Amino acid sequence: ELAQRMSERAVDVVKYFMKQGQIMKPGDVLDADTAELVASEFGHTVRRVAESDIEEGLFDIADRPEDMEPRPPVVTIMGHVDHGKTSLLDAIRNANVVSGEAGGITQHIGAYQVEKNGQKITFIDTPGHAAFTAMRARGAQATDIAILVVAADDSVMPQTIESISHAKAAGVPIIVAINKVDKHEADANKVRTELLRHEVFVESMGGEVLDVEVSAKTGQGLDKLLEAILLQAEVLDLKANPERTAEGVVIEAKLDKGRGPVATVLVQTGTLLPGDILVAGNEWGRVRALVNDLGKHLSEALPSTPVEILGIQGTPQAGDKFAVVNDEARAREITEYRQRLARDKAAARHVGQRGSLEQMMSKLQTSGLKEFTLLIKGDVQGSVEAIVAALDNLGTDEVRARIVHAGAGGITESDVSLAETSGAVIIGFNVRANVQARQAAEQAGIEIRYYNIIYALVDDVKDAMSGLLSPER
Ligand code: GDP
Repeated sequence: ELAQRMSERAVDVVKYFMKQGQIMKPGDVLDADTAELVASEFGHTVRRVAESDIEEGLFDIADRPEDMEPRPPVVTIMGHVDHGKTSLLDAIRNANVVSGEAGGITQHIGAYQVEKNGQKITFIDTPGHAAFTAMRARGAQATDIAILVVAADDSVMPQTIESISHAKAAGVPIIVAINKVDKHEADANKVRTELLRHEVFVESMGGEVLDVEVSAKTGQGLDKLLEAILLQAEVLDLKANPERTAEGVVIEAKLDKGRGPVATVLVQTGTLLPGDILVAGNEWGRVRALVNDLGKHLSEALPSTPVEILGIQGTPQAGDKFAVVNDEARAREITEYRQRLARDKAAARHVGQRGSLEQMMSKLQTSGLKEFTLLIKGDVQGSVEAIVAALDNLGTDEVRARIVHAGAGGITESDVSLAETSGAVIIGFNVRANVQARQAAEQAGIEIRYYNIIYALVDDVKDAMSGLLSPER
């Protein structure tokens, strides 16, 4: 390996060692000092780098402003179960297949594109905030706009509120789709009014959030919804540089019996081409083919395009970022480093308790930040509201509680991933965490505290917060 890196013949390096009276066999390991000595003997300059420098330059190519071009928005649909997320995704897709590509057989690859007024819109095909936040927890933000679906016959429900929290925590603008307006018991205004209580102010209530009445069943309002998305996208001024190597995020990946590992990626910047060598999470590969959501082979994938790629060595995870690299050696080097890192991290997992109250205190003290991040789940909405109000009252000029989400119901995996991305401690009031949530919390090192008396909860937070105050107090 040393010979290869110096672009020397291996036999010359082995000969060098022989001259020193040392016999080197394949598989023998050189220490860094010896390697440095040999390299300089061969006339090379040695620069010692930290192992983490292996990834240097992978995600930080600077774009010139003049190279930036408009790109389609990427949309995720969120909302309460049975409010019509899947129906809406299907209805939009069936009515608006990208023109000129009709006749293709629609494939569920995890995301699709439609065209409206000659402009493209990309939809992430997995509805719900769980997938959205799982991705964020892996450091990827794929979504530009969140569509919040609320059924007009059911109004705001617990997962509606969760979705709002998740979108807000990610800083992603919301468009409200008031669904099922074909039903005679539908009451769109009730939805708008209830959303006010959760700080979603729609236009007709004097706010800035776009809202559209739709029916996934009859197709009513779907055009308006797409127009609202394009309008919001215009405000966001979404741009990317297509003239560079591609980067993006893995939407999903699977092992296909016939085709081997297959991953759907969303290109976020640059143009992905067949033949490109890419690194995605702990895996790498040479792109053998790009296939779109209509089963067609593409000669390139521009920013905001979702494509299935063939040719990766293994299956990366949803939410892994990918980047194109120059050559196979670099791809191997990076993935080997990452795999090693993942093993080390797994070994050290039990040591780090990221989301504990005590750790948060010491972290905040050193960073000078005076915010106490919490996620609160309770048995009934009334007690949750009482807790939130009591915690709000604790705030002083120096320190305050920041509540990323508060809602009724048990503690779920999605709560844990939101806590993970926002660095929050989870508090359960008269509720427990389910098995998956407990496991996820343990893995991520997130602390979950349980209470059944409000003042005990408030006292504990108060104590922890007073630890944040400046010493003179
Ligand atoms: P999801 O759980 O949010 O993905 O909801 P689904 O898309 O599975 O829809 C739940 C149920 O509501 C299904 O029985 C749908 O047929 C029905 N549904 C969805 N949208 C509409 C609509 O606009 N009008 C009516 N009447 N029913 C709808």
